[in-house]
Amino acid sequence: MLAIPEGVREVLETLEAAGHEAWCVGGCVRDALLGRVPEDWDVTTSALPEETMAAFGERALPTGVKHGTVTVRTEAGGVEVTTYRVDGEYRDHRRPESVAFTRSLEEDLARRDFTVNAMALNLRGELRDPFGGREDLEAGDLRCVGDPDRRFQEDALRILRGMRFSAVLGLDEEDETGRAMDRNRELLREIAPERIQTELVKLLCGQYAKEALDNHPLAVGVFWPEALPMVCFDQRNIHHCYDVWNHSTVAVANTPPVPELRCAAFLHDIGKPPTFTLDENGVGHFYGHAAVSVELADGMLRRLKFPNGFRERVVRLIEWHDRDIPRTDKGVRRALRLLGEEDLRLLLALKRADNLAQASAYRGRQLEINKGEEILDRLLAEDACFSLRQLAVNGDDLTALGLRGPAVGRTLEALLAKVVDGELPNEREALLKFVTGL
Ligand code: ATP
Ligand code: MG
Repeated sequence: MLAIPEGVREVLETLEAAGHEAWCVGGCVRDALLGRVPEDWDVTTSALPEETMAAFGERALPTGVKHGTVTVRTEAGGVEVTTYRVDGEYRDHRRPESVAFTRSLEEDLARRDFTVNAMALNLRGELRDPFGGREDLEAGDLRCVGDPDRRFQEDALRILRGMRFSAVLGLDEEDETGRAMDRNRELLREIAPERIQTELVKLLCGQYAKEALDNHPLAVGVFWPEALPMVCFDQRNIHHCYDVWNHSTVAVANTPPVPELRCAAFLHDIGKPPTFTLDENGVGHFYGHAAVSVELADGMLRRLKFPNGFRERVVRLIEWHDRDIPRTDKGVRRALRLLGEEDLRLLLALKRADNLAQASAYRGRQLEINKGEEILDRLLAEDACFSLRQLAVNGDDLTALGLRGPAVGRTLEALLAKVVDGELPNEREALLKFVTGL
């Protein structure tokens, strides 16, 4: 029998003891059937919100009573308990005009997006699965509950959710579901950028992100039209065996699932189509493409309202992606100074993926990346100095020497540059002597 966590069991037991029906529902049932650990366990119940509130007393918080959701505090964290619900009419392709409560579990399951998300499981291990979700899950199929066109027209975010479930779970879109995703893609314009962003990040981090993106470039093009010129863009260059789109999605597939890194992998060459030139030998070049990628990616990430820190990191990785791999102590220390350890490691991962997405004759570059990584590991183990924090002198030392104002910061930076470049040792005496000798 599928294991329901203790805190959730107790919620189900309390609701049943009060005379209501109660089921785990949606993503948690799907994930449990797949043997994956669910992110959260949602409960659906015949109890009206006020009945749920009454059953749990002080442990219940009315977090979304309008939609029938009450959060119950348990030792294992909050569990969302939502009353069986049917959605009213959809007019804006985003959300229903109204929701109504119902006493029928089947009706509640019918409003859910995909069959694999429309299953319920109770305390006794009984599975309610009126739309064949389990069979679809076993066959690896993604299928809408009901008519796909209608379901995507009700809420266009489901198009991106569908791509996300394919990307994360490796499900194949059933034909009609897949076609309806494309047919209705323009409706994604109605969806709030923040909601697109959330689904997109999950999609990009999926094990099958490449397949999901490749299936629907036009859907991506609705919110990121800048990505469309990459599709089928022949690079006309012996370094490359893929067009720009496929190069980018292969790069995505070859990066660890860190959101910023996956995003950078997808966008790193977005500046290639606009910078393309063909030389007299018929060879394609993309001079200055990294800078154009930076500019485009910055605008694309702003449009989807990514947090500033996220955007800046992605842009920094893109900016650096085409520079030489640092393979000397000095080069790695300089890169560390400018990027810090975390971003430098992400950059090396991006370079690795970028190279794996190039023609196989150029894989020798993997060895250069390994070399850079070895140097990085060694320098960090040796506690090499690459930041002001690690410098053997600080602002007070320079003030004591009589420096004032901006000269203090400038001098510290100059000392750090010399230490990083190996021109001065990171030793207090030597650094102070250098300053007094200036
Ligand atoms: P995750 O693993 O990200 O939590 P999930 O399937 O649980 O995936 P949630 O957004 O947590 O997704 O939603 C919980 C459940 O609510 C879904 O499984 C689905 O049954 C239903 N649901 C969520 N969003 C929609 C939607 N836009 N349209 C229809 N049903 C939805
Ligand atoms: Mg969930």
